[in-house]
Amino acid sequence: MPDDRNHGFATRAVHAGESIDPVTGAHNTPIYQTATYGFQSLEDKAAILAGEREGYFYSRYGNPTSAAFETKLAALEGAEAGLVAASGMGVISAAILGLAGSGDHVVASDAVYSVAEDFFTHDLPRFGIDVTLVDIHDLDAVNAAIKDETRILYTEFLSNPTLKVADIPALAAIARDRGIVSIVDNTFATPYLMRPIEHGIDLVLHSATKYISGHGDVVAGAIVGCSAYISCVRQMVAHLGSPNSPFNSWLLLRGIKTLELRMERHCQNALELARFLNAHPDVTHVNYPGLEDHPNHAVARHLTGGRFGGMLSFEIDGGYDTAQQFADALLLCDHAVSLGDVSTLVWPESGSGLVRVSTGIELVDDIIADFNQAFFGIG
Ligand code: PLP
Repeated sequence: MPDDRNHGFATRAVHAGESIDPVTGAHNTPIYQTATYGFQSLEDKAAILAGEREGYFYSRYGNPTSAAFETKLAALEGAEAGLVAASGMGVISAAILGLAGSGDHVVASDAVYSVAEDFFTHDLPRFGIDVTLVDIHDLDAVNAAIKDETRILYTEFLSNPTLKVADIPALAAIARDRGIVSIVDNTFATPYLMRPIEHGIDLVLHSATKYISGHGDVVAGAIVGCSAYISCVRQMVAHLGSPNSPFNSWLLLRGIKTLELRMERHCQNALELARFLNAHPDVTHVNYPGLEDHPNHAVARHLTGGRFGGMLSFEIDGGYDTAQQFADALLLCDHAVSLGDVSTLVWPESGSGLVRVSTGIELVDDIIADFNQAFFGIG
């Protein structure tokens, strides 16, 4: 495998972590559908089990198809090592439980994916891990929330579903100064838009279910960072029993190869859709960091180089019932949870008029025409 450090992003997405199979000549990485591995000798066994030689012994700890994906994602995020698991929540839980224990404290953003927030506020305290949620944009509040017992600072870069933008370099600096581990959920942006490791963040994770796979056909999670932290999270994934299946890792390998092309189109479509919604009389507010009146537009532009992703949300006049009717009236776009799919997915957030949109890669005129007819239908 050539050294890919000097290759461009699109090249690394295609080639990193993969090479022609030396035994069969297979061009694509095979699905190593095996639970266990035989050893060539006792020496081999001892070296592999001691971690002195690369190798595998049981697929709960590692698998060659998964390893190819881990290397590729690490190359794209600019990290030393990577780990794939059975879901985004699988890596979030394993990372926190691997790096913090009873008596420790976590500072987390108050604007994160609802199930992650639930895990922080309901599950972690049951294991003796105390969590403080803060407005991650208020750096004084972040600093004030960190105490002697704090081990982890956790945030999403682009928040789900409100599309707030965290100042990643500033948060990395706080974590470094205070001697705690920084973790960023980069699901919405992907490494194509922003690479937190380059800004001093320790660990970067993804719901790989979303843009990393890109086709809505797999549930998976991934995390990258330095080898020491990744080993720690790998151990926790093995103990909690949430490794990725070889087939799902193969789907991730296939999907991630087109990440740059897909993200370019997601970004273009979302910006056009955001502008359309901003001008629509039934919409009271649009959350999209690419709009110049977004409160964090400047930070987003600085960190992403002017691409703002495929996710947006908007407030519909009339509240939750109207939001539900709108989603139901769509003919082309799907009323469905999840995001980062090639098709446009629309999800009314329960109890409010906020509608989350994961803009797909369809022709944007067709997406806008569908939104137009749905607004007309409920109007
Ligand atoms: N992080 C973000 C930002 C998400 O949106 C999600 C799921 O929607 C997750 C993490 C959890 O990922 P998964 O559903 O793969 O467990």
